[in-house]
Amino acid sequence: MGSKIASIIFKDVTGANESNRVSYIVRINSLMMCTYFLIWIAVFGVSARYINTAICFVGMCGFAFSTYLTYRNKNTAALLLYSAVTVIWMFRFVIQWGWECGIQHFVFVLLVLVFVATYRPLKEKLMASFVVFSIRMLLYLWHITHEPLENLPKPISVTFQIINIVSIFMSLIVILTIFTRDKLATEAKLAQYNRQLKAVAEHDHLTGLLNRRSGMADMISKIMSGSFSTGMSIAIGDIDFFKKINDTLGHEAGDQVLKSLSRLFKDFMSEYGIAIRWGGEEFLFVFDDMNLDDAFVALDGLRLKISTMEIPWNGQRISVTMTFGVTDINVMTTASDREQDIENRINEAIDEADKKLYMGKDSGRNKVVI
Ligand code: GH3
Ligand code: MG
Ligand code: MG
Repeated sequence: MGSKIASIIFKDVTGANESNRVSYIVRINSLMMCTYFLIWIAVFGVSARYINTAICFVGMCGFAFSTYLTYRNKNTAALLLYSAVTVIWMFRFVIQWGWECGIQHFVFVLLVLVFVATYRPLKEKLMASFVVFSIRMLLYLWHITHEPLENLPKPISVTFQIINIVSIFMSLIVILTIFTRDKLATEAKLAQYNRQLKAVAEHDHLTGLLNRRSGMADMISKIMSGSFSTGMSIAIGDIDFFKKINDTLGHEAGDQVLKSLSRLFKDFMSEYGIAIRWGGEEFLFVFDDMNLDDAFVALDGLRLKISTMEIPWNGQRISVTMTFGVTDINVMTTASDREQDIENRINEAIDEADKKLYMGKDSGRNKVVI
């Protein structure tokens, strides 16, 4: 039963341009007001106050129609109808029974609805708030200048007040609960999108390796944190005769080679530091806290692995080799070093590694030049 009611209340609005939050808030409030009026219809019916029974019936139909509108994806119309019925009925009851009936407090529900159940600009919300404020002021001015048509007997006025207080609190709690849940869900979604965006921005789309910009940022932050005692070595690696693969087997085969090699790099470098896709078929290898000789030995092992690797492609097997230039970076920092100084230092080391790489290319390829 409970879950049936919940599924009716939270039935999604189809083709909506607005958030479900607005529908839910207006829908639940309208339903609560239908119940509220049902109680009054019963009370007035039993006490033979037929005009009031009729007024409450019309009010209940208004709220029922407002509920219906939320299922038709007409949230603004539903909210306007809800507010109009509330205002008319507040005036009617204050005129009849005065301040004692406590109906006037429902303006606070309207005020909260203006802010949490609409997506209008703040200026419009403030204007709507002013309208709500004016309604409340008018009600008060009426009350101090007019005697009520009927004086409520004490027990009825107490019942009125209690039912109104409960209804107003329930309305406000429902509105604020839905609003808070919606806001938290939105924030969680936003944080997730931010994480995804950050990952996309930091990584190369084809290979999944860090891209040049985030790779450089990573090196700078590591050096600036001053966490290396041995030093830092870097190597530039370039695939030999890569153009030939593209020319003979096609660009997709070339992409496949880049992806397969990158998987190997990621795996291999997880022990030493990071691999970065530096350019088209060039990769930068960063060996954290490792001297030049050790980096050379590790890289030569990687070079050997690459040269014995066979990359499957359309029933064929592609073999490639790579040439590397390796050098080390001075990681000593002083208090006056700025990020730009460190970046310049890294760029100088990369230029040096590049020169060695080309020496390797000139002297036969498939080698690590130290
Ligand atoms: P070398 O041994 O001297 O490095 O020769 P090479 O053929 O590898 O070098 P070259 O600079 O002549 O060619 C590099 C090629 O890499 C040219 C370019 O089209 C290709 N390339 C760059 N990025 C990509 C990519 O993302 N995918 C594919 N398939 N090819 C790429
Ligand atoms: Mg190249
Ligand atoms: Mg090349």
